[in-house]
Amino acid sequence: MAKIAINIATGSLQQEEMIVGIDLGTTNSLVAIIHPESKMPVALKEHNSSSLVPSVVHFGDQVTVGEEAKKYLVSDPAHTIFSAKRLMGKTYNDVKNNSASLAYKIIDDENRLVKVQVGQQFYSPVDLSSLILKELKKQAEHILKTPVSKAVITVPAYFNDAQRQATRDAGKLAGLDVLRIINEPTAASLAYGFGTHKEEEKTIAVYDLGGGTFDISILHISNGIFEVLSTHGDTYLGGDDFDNAIVDHWITQLGLQGSVSESQHRQLLRLKAEEAKKHLSAHETFESVYESKNIFITKEVFESQVRPILDRTIVSCANALKDAGLEKGSIDEVVMVGGSTRVPLVKKMVSDFFGKPLNDRVNPDEVVALGAAIQADILAGNTKDILLLDVTPLSLGLETMGGLMDVLLPRNSKIPTKASRQYTTYKDGQSGMKIAVFQGERDMVKDNRRLAEFNLTGIPAMPAGLPKVEISFLINADGILVVKAKELRSGIEQSIEVKPQYGLTDEEVERMLLDSMTHAKEDMDNRALTEAKTEAEQLLQTTEKFIQRNFKELSEQELSATSLAMQALQLSLDMNDKNLIQSKTEELNEISRPYAERVMNNAVGKAMAGKKV
Ligand code: AMP
Repeated sequence: MAKIAINIATGSLQQEEMIVGIDLGTTNSLVAIIHPESKMPVALKEHNSSSLVPSVVHFGDQVTVGEEAKKYLVSDPAHTIFSAKRLMGKTYNDVKNNSASLAYKIIDDENRLVKVQVGQQFYSPVDLSSLILKELKKQAEHILKTPVSKAVITVPAYFNDAQRQATRDAGKLAGLDVLRIINEPTAASLAYGFGTHKEEEKTIAVYDLGGGTFDISILHISNGIFEVLSTHGDTYLGGDDFDNAIVDHWITQLGLQGSVSESQHRQLLRLKAEEAKKHLSAHETFESVYESKNIFITKEVFESQVRPILDRTIVSCANALKDAGLEKGSIDEVVMVGGSTRVPLVKKMVSDFFGKPLNDRVNPDEVVALGAAIQADILAGNTKDILLLDVTPLSLGLETMGGLMDVLLPRNSKIPTKASRQYTTYKDGQSGMKIAVFQGERDMVKDNRRLAEFNLTGIPAMPAGLPKVEISFLINADGILVVKAKELRSGIEQSIEVKPQYGLTDEEVERMLLDSMTHAKEDMDNRALTEAKTEAEQLLQTTEKFIQRNFKELSEQELSATSLAMQALQLSLDMNDKNLIQSKTEELNEISRPYAERVMNNAVGKAMAGKKV
């Protein structure tokens, strides 16, 4: 447990085993703690400076991070890396369409994880994030005058497994023990809910639009329990897109489209575009000079350009409400988080959608870090009356016979969570079982995303159906999945931590959800056919085995009727006709049931003969 002490002589905070909360943002990052005296969350900052550390890394004679590095965005763009968070857990294919807006070079390596090239060196997004975290750690240690080695780090709710792992790895590289990864909107709601009466019960929507990512979460707070009901979002939507829209506008205004130097101009205009965007949050027009030419943009034009981007966030809000099973009217409070919610059109569209005024009481730049600090304090054992219940964004399941998806943990399951189910073999003497883990909402695994696969081997030889293989899924509080398989009779087991090779793009997540709705009927038909076929095949096998073992006890008539019914069932299987398969299965069952019962009764009778009960 963390211990806190105030140094009376200097008035500084001294804490053994300090646990800090870190918001590792696309644009800015910051650190917060619970102040030992006021017990309130506070963002750390040096005197007279901002708490925000720009998430920018410059590679010059030495590596610089933050404000220092930001100065090089214009003078040395090829060696200055920004928005690395957007590349976390992504492949080149995932990001190539957006790479034009990046001034630095990313490596074209198709399905491998993205790397950034700076001179002769290659850096992964994990390396870059770790440099930012190292700087945050250094600054925090300087302010607190104590070593900082433990942290809670926030990620967008829509980050998948690979992106969460990458964030954790970055923390490790920076010398931080990452005690927990929590979702940004959940952290924000902790900060908003902190200090409210324990008895107060409310449902809130957290709309979080930052530099590179968008999240919407619906939470229920009662008795100090923060329960995430649903979450939706887009890891490729944010203020950077607004900047790009302004750059597009100016490139046209300056007649630079298609020119050889277009991408260079885009870089140079990017920072000015961000300045324009911020200016337009409080003014009607923005004017400036670029290479001795006038450039300008009005608020009206800016709004018409970003409206389609914002429409996508509103669709996500509607989906999140639907997933939570709520109407707009059930939302008591709408909380705004992230720098981009300062854009007046964002506020207007969100307020119009939910039909109520917004809550932007807490500084939107700091609210996520403050929430992370509260979670850190909970983990340190100092805050006992708050509990956080987060959810998983997509269903997780296993491939079963016929390529069916067997869901063990449905979408929006509360985490941490655990689920297990028993499976068995379908062939005599089967010694191995393939365990393939999938994520998605469709009934057939081929339509979902394969996360991992492993083999449970060494199952002792047993008749089909006898082994009991228990497969369990465990999602820890960081949203990371561990799959275990154990054959209960022999005790052999195997487990795997699911670390997908590359991330899922948001389009893929959207598509998976949409597909599951549009193909619902087709999926049901496919599932019914596959189930009917599996049942029929198993019945054919067991009947054949039964006859081989017991043919002496069956009459000629029974044997020939069975043989005919088996042929008919086989024929229906070849025809792939679900109804026919079901009726022929039933016919074979009707014929075999009476003699199967008779043979079983005889066997039991013999076994019991002479025994006293
Ligand atoms: P965050 O990721 O939450 O730090 O948000 C950063 C984003 O907020 C960047 O895209 C900033 O350009 C944007 N931002 C910050 N201040 C403003 C403002 N006053 N108006 C519009 N956007 C802003």
